Amino acid sequence: MPRYLSLLESGELHDRSLVMGNLLRDCTLCPRECRIDRTQDASGFCRSGHLPIVASYCAHHGEEPVLSGTRGSGTIFFGHCNLRCVFCQNHQISQPAHSLRGNEVSLERLAGIMLELQSMECHNINFVSPSHFAAQIVKGVEIAASKGLRIPLVYNTNGYESLNTLRLLDGVIDIYLPDLKYSDNSAALEYSKAKDYVRHARSSIVEMKRQVGDLVVGSDGIARSGLIIRHLVLPNDLAGSGESLRFIREEIEAKTFISTMSQYFPTHKAGKYPLLSRPIGQREYEKVLEWLDRFGLENGWVQDYSSKDYYCPDFKKSQPFEVD
Ligand code: SF4
Repeated sequence: MPRYLSLLESGELHDRSLVMGNLLRDCTLCPRECRIDRTQDASGFCRSGHLPIVASYCAHHGEEPVLSGTRGSGTIFFGHCNLRCVFCQNHQISQPAHSLRGNEVSLERLAGIMLELQSMECHNINFVSPSHFAAQIVKGVEIAASKGLRIPLVYNTNGYESLNTLRLLDGVIDIYLPDLKYSDNSAALEYSKAKDYVRHARSSIVEMKRQVGDLVVGSDGIARSGLIIRHLVLPNDLAGSGESLRFIREEIEAKTFISTMSQYFPTHKAGKYPLLSRPIGQREYEKVLEWLDRFGLENGWVQDYSSKDYYCPDFKKSQPFEVD
């Protein structure tokens, strides 16, 4: 059974949602620590108020096989973000030219979307870019679980997380799916406006592993709980792939499941940055695969070099908002 059900039964889920709701009044949900009152104001880095912004939701068949399975991962794409990646592959919803606050939904509606995805027989609920809405998600889960939600929860994050928020998610989330984007803060600052990304992402992944442990997959091939780390290879080794893989090997463990992705393409503002203005080369990608071998990291998935669109959702088909 998903972990959040025992918290619901004990009343702890309700207490967590109250504590996290209070964090919104002086927001420290993520490492930005903007300290604005989001019940009144949406001027923080993520430009988000107290209601969640749902850009789209669907049964997603392009996630890792243990998440998408045969019936899809019940994916909820949140609008806006606590990073500003100049190469964001989902920039239409993470950094839209105009605010997506018109897509705000009530917490009851967020819970209703979870139940709708469950009724579509999705294998799980997959929260994409959840960090700035973690409090709203916990309240939504409380409502949905009390109305019959019973499938695992996936926290699909850019990795820029606050440890305090993650600890409040302990027992709520079943599967953590963090990015590990950089191993060098100067690159994180230049390309994602996060000068302390490496410290926060690494300590977050250690905490996630502590909470959920190794990946557990049922006899049907579908993930029940655990950790999967995503690593998008960037041109000119801007992702610091070797150093990130070394960190996983030495600080997490060799049997960690890693999803290695080749799908980078220079979208959004990437063309203005010479080192990011081209796709990755085949040899560059092969070098990362060699590092995986060298560090003995054998579990996970390696996106084929030539099928770069494998994980790319088509927002134009699934979203209820206009792409600028
Ligand atoms: S969640 Fe948004 S408002 Fe809160 S600290 Fe992070 S960026 Fe700032």
